Amino acid sequence: MSKGRKVWFLSILSIFFGALLLVSGNTEVKASGINDYIISNKIQPAKIQYREGTFSEWFGYENGVGKPEGVVVHETATPGVNAEQFVTSFNNNWKTQQTYVHAFTDDKETINIHSADYGVWGAGPAANYRYIQIELCRVNGYDAFAHSIANDAFYVASKLIQYNLPDIPGQTVLSHHQISLKYHETTHVDPDTYFAAQGYSMDEMNSMISYYYNNLKNYGNVYAEGGNTNAGSNNNGSTPSANVLRVNNSNGNYVPIMALKNDGTFARVTNRALMNNTDWQTDKTKESNGVTYRRVATNEWVDTTYVI
Ligand SMILES: [Zn+2]
Repeated sequence: MSKGRKVWFLSILSIFFGALLLVSGNTEVKASGINDYIISNKIQPAKIQYREGTFSEWFGYENGVGKPEGVVVHETATPGVNAEQFVTSFNNNWKTQQTYVHAFTDDKETINIHSADYGVWGAGPAANYRYIQIELCRVNGYDAFAHSIANDAFYVASKLIQYNLPDIPGQTVLSHHQISLKYHETTHVDPDTYFAAQGYSMDEMNSMISYYYNNLKNYGNVYAEGGNTNAGSNNNGSTPSANVLRVNNSNGNYVPIMALKNDGTFARVTNRALMNNTDWQTDKTKESNGVTYRRVATNEWVDTTYVI
């Protein structure tokens, strides 16, 4: 290639990339507004509340109990119904509606109603046997939407970390729309339509999830610096109720989970853990070798020395 042609070629290239930058720059200004708003205001995502729901179909994933492959992001498509109301409705109607998910979130709270160690009925058999599933409730207004996105992204990031999964959009984090395209068992396209109406997108959601995921991994906090160390706090400083434990491992990043064996002793669960400073509903207490354990899921127990 002659020098003259090279210069010509490079200028065409620079025009081309200049146009690309301009386009992506414009897109970013519009689409990352919500994420920028969340981050610049250091919006604290709601703590995940763990409440055992009524769903009694306990089935493991294709890789086994406690081995989800990722998280599906849903949107309820129902204006005016919040997470609390959906939880009540699903707990009452899952048998007739034939649908259940792990969690609901809105702008104020995130409620986990079925242990993510087990599958649910949210997006067709292929997805149900692979993924954790959360429903985002519709809210009104920019600030409320931003809070709901922070809550949703925090839940997804937390579950990826809890199950030692990488954060790979399209592989470990999928919209219901992507699930429909991948497995052809449902035709739903959520949350794309709702996101678009808010000037948001699944790509932006993935950016928000990655932001929280990386900060949680590196700093144990959703915000890397200058953030509130009480990550995931939205309880207004309230203390947990009597049947709720708050756990923390002051010597590490995560609280170990123990499984009760048939002989009555406990063994460490190695492929998952509880995040520091999280609340868990508990229903049973058991002693073994001088250690007191509290049950936080079907066969997940925590040493009470981690209870704060
Ligand atoms: Zn859906």
